[in-house]
Amino acid sequence: MAQESLTTPTERMATADGKLGAKVVSQPEQPAGGPTEEELNPWITQESRFDFAAKKLNLDDGMWKVLREPTREIIVHIPVQMDDGKIEVFTGYRVQHSMARGPAKGGVRYAKNVSLDEVRALASWMTWKCAVVNIPFGGAKGGVICDPHSMSQGELERMTRRYTAELMEFIGPEKDVPAPDMGTNEQIMAWMMDTYSMHQRQTVTSVVTGKPLNIGGSRGRLQATGHGISVVCDCALQFLAMPAKGCRVVIQGFGNVGSNTARLLFEKGYTITGVAEYDGGLWNEQGIDISALLRHRAELGTITGFAGAQAAESPDVITRECDILVPAATENVITSANAAELKCRILCEGANGPTTIPADEILADKGVLVLPDILANAGGVTASYFEWVQDRMGYFWTEAEVNERLDRIMTDSFHDVISYAQTHGVNNRIAAYMLAIDRVAYTTRQRGMYA
Ligand code: GLU
Repeated sequence: MAQESLTTPTERMATADGKLGAKVVSQPEQPAGGPTEEELNPWITQESRFDFAAKKLNLDDGMWKVLREPTREIIVHIPVQMDDGKIEVFTGYRVQHSMARGPAKGGVRYAKNVSLDEVRALASWMTWKCAVVNIPFGGAKGGVICDPHSMSQGELERMTRRYTAELMEFIGPEKDVPAPDMGTNEQIMAWMMDTYSMHQRQTVTSVVTGKPLNIGGSRGRLQATGHGISVVCDCALQFLAMPAKGCRVVIQGFGNVGSNTARLLFEKGYTITGVAEYDGGLWNEQGIDISALLRHRAELGTITGFAGAQAAESPDVITRECDILVPAATENVITSANAAELKCRILCEGANGPTTIPADEILADKGVLVLPDILANAGGVTASYFEWVQDRMGYFWTEAEVNERLDRIMTDSFHDVISYAQTHGVNNRIAAYMLAIDRVAYTTRQRGMYA
């Protein structure tokens, strides 16, 4: 398959300088021993990939300008009374990148290192992701700079309610539909839904997705991202004519996405040889018993100390030999600093933005098959779409119905991206961007510009 990459800085500068007139991003010196700030800035990464794909599509200048920037960026500073009686002010964001194909859609992240550039990138990725799987949503993302692990339930609830109240006129079932992301969960979604509903004077379940089952949640939503990843892994193995039985998988991150991916792949007969977490890694050449590991984690709150595997350093686990590597935690895990060391055949991106642009180039040289984030982890938002549909109907599907529909969308999307890559002679990541940009541009043109 002819592959074209976008990865060398020169090429990126050339792209940025080209016909589309993108702003040129200055190239800081590479500090000894680590990736540059530019390499690690998710918005620059998103922009560069967007520019490259848009150029390949011959996207006209006007449409390029429309789709490159988010539609709306909201910054809020939210006062919260802490348990000790003191007032703390938290900074939060909601970025709505596009509403061309439907309401904006995307998670809310609670983390210490949230930044506007990160939320912008994540919002744009949501637009492309929803378009890749062809569901009727635009893209958005939210975030609050906080350390959710050091906050009490009461503090989290008050912060969530105030954040939601600040966004009242910007969110809604037909406007922008938040969901869980890193550091948020079903409980946070329940508080968001309740706050919005109190202001509306009626229960509006479809304002957020990823809710608990008894208040408008969907069966299968919690494990949907992992489910979707397992489906695209199956598709990739079929594509490469590799057997699933005995296929060795390493998973980085053991939160909702990583642990469900591990469990579902384990149940399908894959061999999970390594798990890398923030506080330590595990390795077992014969395969880790994921059910036993989940029990261990439920009891002790960590994967470390698990008797069914050897302890290993997480950075080392990621670079060991395997068939599939699934980064399932956060951005910038595979960079110019470690990409050359990877020994996987397939990189399946469970996280958003785990691979940097220089790392892409290295992986292309190594012939790694990349299943890009905006395809591979789209199972979560696809099940969110099902939840939104069910809430609006007031009629709920069985888990088998959810999974059957999810399987079909993920399988079709995998084949759409692979054939787009083959037709246009680009790698899978750029193919996914091109497919998505083409769909969003088509709708935008069809709707026309409101003057
Ligand atoms: N936070 C998830 C993502 O990045 C899910 C978003 C959603 O369901 O709206 O895809």
